[in-house]
Amino acid sequence: MKTSLLSACRETARRTFRIQSLRPEQESAMLAVLNGRDAFVSLPTGFGKSLIYQVPAMIVERPTIVISPLIALMTDQERALNKRGVPVVAIHSRLRAAERRAALERLKKGGRLVVLTTPETLESTATAPLFERARPALLCIDEAHCISEWGHDFRPSYLRLGNARKRLGNPPVLALTATATPRVREDIAERLRLDNPRVIVAPAHRENLGLTVDVVPGAAKFPAAARRIKRLQRPGIIYCATTTAVDEVSGALGRARIPVTRYHGKMRAADRDAAQRQFMIPSRRLIMVATTAFGMGIDKPNIRYILHYQAPGSLEQYVQEIGRAGRDGRPGQCILLFDPADLEIHEHLQAQGRPSVRHLERLEAALTAWKDEKRAPTADTLAYSAGVPARICEVLLSDLEEAGSVERDKDGSIAIVVPPEAFKTGVRDLVAKLKTFRYEGERRLRLIADYANSDECRSVFIRRYFGEDYPPRCGTCDRCRADRVGIEQSEPSQRRHSRLRRKPIENRADQPSPQVPGPSGTIARSSRRPVAEIVPQRPPQPTASTPPGRTARSKRRPSKWRRPS
Ligand SMILES: [Zn+2]
Repeated sequence: MKTSLLSACRETARRTFRIQSLRPEQESAMLAVLNGRDAFVSLPTGFGKSLIYQVPAMIVERPTIVISPLIALMTDQERALNKRGVPVVAIHSRLRAAERRAALERLKKGGRLVVLTTPETLESTATAPLFERARPALLCIDEAHCISEWGHDFRPSYLRLGNARKRLGNPPVLALTATATPRVREDIAERLRLDNPRVIVAPAHRENLGLTVDVVPGAAKFPAAARRIKRLQRPGIIYCATTTAVDEVSGALGRARIPVTRYHGKMRAADRDAAQRQFMIPSRRLIMVATTAFGMGIDKPNIRYILHYQAPGSLEQYVQEIGRAGRDGRPGQCILLFDPADLEIHEHLQAQGRPSVRHLERLEAALTAWKDEKRAPTADTLAYSAGVPARICEVLLSDLEEAGSVERDKDGSIAIVVPPEAFKTGVRDLVAKLKTFRYEGERRLRLIADYANSDECRSVFIRRYFGEDYPPRCGTCDRCRADRVGIEQSEPSQRRHSRLRRKPIENRADQPSPQVPGPSGTIARSSRRPVAEIVPQRPPQPTASTPPGRTARSKRRPSKWRRPS
């Protein structure tokens, strides 16, 4: 059985996708899901993760549902699959009526089919029954880190994917991601109710990426970036934390007659698309200046550098973003211009979108008042009467539902379903969780500062954070170069590479990786924290508008980042 499935995978990869040989990681994950087992796959960008669901989708006889966070991402995949002659439909909120009817008709027909959709569409009352009737053979969650990092303050539907899975008839689940710490992995596994999954995890840092950090106060950033850019080969991406910084940096580069384009959430969609198209043209060697809104699913192999003009919101985000460089295997440079004041911007952004204890208190009071009146409000009326933003209300309700304190009936009415004392306890637990999230958000930001200020090899720092016990020095980062380890290391590093190719597959499902306490204590500590404390990360924030020019503050290093913990 195993050999025949394996040869079916190889044959499909060759015939349909023109891939001559699959990587062992890909084969292992394909076999797992084809044998009805859940799989969790964390492989760097450019590793061919999509193939892991695409090949089985061509072998099984029923639809494969693929959950994607972004419609743009879905559209790209749909186009790519169409080109290969793979039966595919994308079902999402932006379809025109006729397109939607056609897509749903196709889904109804069933059979071999890739169905691309969002978590919101999967559970919407209009489409959910159709997905359920399709009895999919496989449920794939692309960019699965969204479940953990975005779920809490961005998209509650991600939190409910475990329930959605049940309604779909409990098909095997394939969770794909490029970055996940051991804790995020546990969070994903718990939310999706993965059952003894096949776990395949590759190192979080690729050897062809050279890591450098320049500690630069805000005022000196542009000259520092300009100096770097002059010496770097294009195309490259410059990431800024705010839309204002994107406009300033791209404007200044443009005035210096450097070929540049820009991308952020405050631009018109048509302008954004045009900028992205220009950047993607193979012959054009542009610099893209963008917020973190740009880049997910960008498949451009020859990006030569990623420069962070401002610190990212977390090390996870950083690794995702630098993973877009050097996908052709040739060297890529990853430079972080770090100013401690950058972190204040993120702190501000995080506080804006996160449910607070005060929100919860208001919601508790409103729920109790409705109950006393023996009436059951909908989520919208509840949000209105509690004076809590609808999205935040929705997130808190999801948590209370998960805890069994409230229930929502078919027409969306919400009611407390436990005695008053138990309800109070449920709320108290949630208060503790919200406080932990807040603390964790700060901790993640401190970690960026730790990364910037650390004396150890940058690659070791990153790989240990993502759960490796004894990662080797890279020999190419600024720290290694300063210590001149590059030359002595080159040979063992090649050996390491071949070892990786042969045996990167570890089943760590039932054996959480122990952490070696490193110089940065935060990392080792974090991995022992209970799963429930996993923190939400701010979603890409296209609308961020905090001015970047915080130069005057940079000397006043915020003491909170240095708080002993
Ligand atoms: Zn190094």
